[in-house]
Amino acid sequence: MRIQVRLPKIQPNEYELPKQCPYDGCSGDAFKPHGRKGEAKAVRDTDHDKVTSYRYKCATCGYTFRIYPAGVSQAQQSNRLKAMSVLLYILGISYGGVADFLWSFGLQMSKTTVYDNVQAAGVVARKRQKATVKHGGQRAIIGADGTFLKVKGVQVGIEVVVDDETGELLGLDITASESTEEIEPFIREIAEQVKAEVLVSDDFNSYKNIADNADLAHQICQSHIIRNVDKVVESIGRPTRMLHPPLMPKGVKSSYHQIERDCRILQGLVRDRPPDAKQILAILYDCYKATLTPRPKQKHSIWYRMKRLIWRLWMRWERITLHDHFEQLDGTNNACERLIGWWIKERYRTMRGYKRTLSIRNVVAVTSLLGAAAEPYDMGLLYA
Ligand SMILES: [Zn+2]
Repeated sequence: MRIQVRLPKIQPNEYELPKQCPYDGCSGDAFKPHGRKGEAKAVRDTDHDKVTSYRYKCATCGYTFRIYPAGVSQAQQSNRLKAMSVLLYILGISYGGVADFLWSFGLQMSKTTVYDNVQAAGVVARKRQKATVKHGGQRAIIGADGTFLKVKGVQVGIEVVVDDETGELLGLDITASESTEEIEPFIREIAEQVKAEVLVSDDFNSYKNIADNADLAHQICQSHIIRNVDKVVESIGRPTRMLHPPLMPKGVKSSYHQIERDCRILQGLVRDRPPDAKQILAILYDCYKATLTPRPKQKHSIWYRMKRLIWRLWMRWERITLHDHFEQLDGTNNACERLIGWWIKERYRTMRGYKRTLSIRNVVAVTSLLGAAAEPYDMGLLYA
């Protein structure tokens, strides 16, 4: 994984007045200094131990408030220290570990404060992510994918939607499964908000249904298709080596020995995607179509498995090859996989599980915000 950030810094002589009175319900925008002298404020930071705050008074409502130099808020810690704790946590150190690390440099911070800092950054990241979806303009291609994590020992599903081009997280939902009913409303809402045209996903039926229902063009990830075909071919095995091959079902045109050859053809088709692939699939399907569907609990014959695989590829061929006609598509769901791999799984590997699902939302939002940025992310924006 790659994270590039800029940490905020205290600018002890830079002060900015608020655009609007901080008092709830007052829209005043004119302020007068209240008392001339500034007051010293102790601050925890890498470079400064105190700064000067000034009091101002709202000309409209009379409310007085303090202003602090850039990089400092009412909090005891500077924005830089907050951002440092968030960054260390994202890099894989536990809440307690971050506190220990900072303490060893003389920077006092409790484990609970580290936790609060990470969650607060997550809340801001999620707000930004929501604003991106609402006002960030069209995202023609979105990717969707799911994964599973444990929260207090219980498995929960995580469904993510990303901008396929930039890798930005557009939405994250906690789900019980990857069924159509479970994930469709969430994916469709984002698709509509960003005016998506194409959905990229893996081979699950849920995504196929969602793409159809939402009228989106659908790209099934190329590497998933190749992997799935290889897996089925592998499981069908090398029939020609069997000493006592099973009997060929009635009406089937591919003999036991031809199955291996047909498997190679399928593996070639999904890799090379020749223009006459659908005709080839039709011919192959014809060789197996006489196989009867097995009764429940009956073993699936290799002919039946071939029939199913060929049918599946044939019926999905437009979705498998969409990227051959769509310049912006690379045929993979890499944007989603990177987000899940780097920003969900990799971070999760080093911890003992999440305690709250809200924490997953916050941590993933902030890691992907930092991770997907094209330039070093200015962490000061989390405290703007
Ligand atoms: Zn006011």
